[in-house]
Amino acid sequence: MELSDLASRLRSGRLFHAYIVTGADAGTRERAGDLIAQAAVCQAERGVPCGVCRDCVKARKKIHPDIETVRRDPDQAFYNVESMRALRTRALDVPNEAGRAVHIVAEADLMNVQAQNAMLKVLEEPPTHAVFVLLADNPQMLLETVRSRCETIGLTPEETALDGKIEGMAEDFFNEFTKEDGLGLVRAVKPMEKLSKTELFDLVTGLRRRALDAAGQMTEDKLRRLTDTLDTADQMVFSNLKGAALGGYLIARLYGSGE
Ligand SMILES: [Zn+2]
Repeated sequence: MELSDLASRLRSGRLFHAYIVTGADAGTRERAGDLIAQAAVCQAERGVPCGVCRDCVKARKKIHPDIETVRRDPDQAFYNVESMRALRTRALDVPNEAGRAVHIVAEADLMNVQAQNAMLKVLEEPPTHAVFVLLADNPQMLLETVRSRCETIGLTPEETALDGKIEGMAEDFFNEFTKEDGLGLVRAVKPMEKLSKTELFDLVTGLRRRALDAAGQMTEDKLRRLTDTLDTADQMVFSNLKGAALGGYLIARLYGSGE
């Protein structure tokens, strides 16, 4: 499935104690992991994150105390057993703020066998409040016993070519954004009202690409404001924000007085 389909998957299914996220590229897997984590801590408890509750906001800003991403020591080729034992101990702790605590393991396929066995122990009897998300490029490197205890989310790469209509809209919006006053943006967001959810995702993707290419064309501050806004916009679309509201949000964030 594409990342944009993950919402319906989360909405329709129950929340599992453990996931393996595989497929696509590392960045997309991380985003999927973040979205599962947000769904797990969201107060709305409806599978898909609401996007607006305190827990969603903190998750989005990556400051939620109950979401951690575990990363391999870059000096080591594999996770060692100690790091997974430490994770097991932390997983026993009661969450600080949310109803659940989420432990995302980046490059989980780089756990050695002892580390995987330590992970397995906690997967066999997971604390009721714990959710584990294993990000893995090569899930076949994981023990069958680990895999069988996880719900696998297989991502396909996002469509790379955007259709001309969306591309044109992204370009128009971006051109207006680079100008000194933002007055043209009000016109530029108007056509967003008619876009489907998938098209809105594509539009945000198109804007993100332009932002990546735009270093040097605008102040670092302005660029950061754009990329931060797009990160949030992406998740709001994921949580079913409609096109008209997205346009309003972009203008408020990029040209409004407050946050
Ligand atoms: Zn929420």
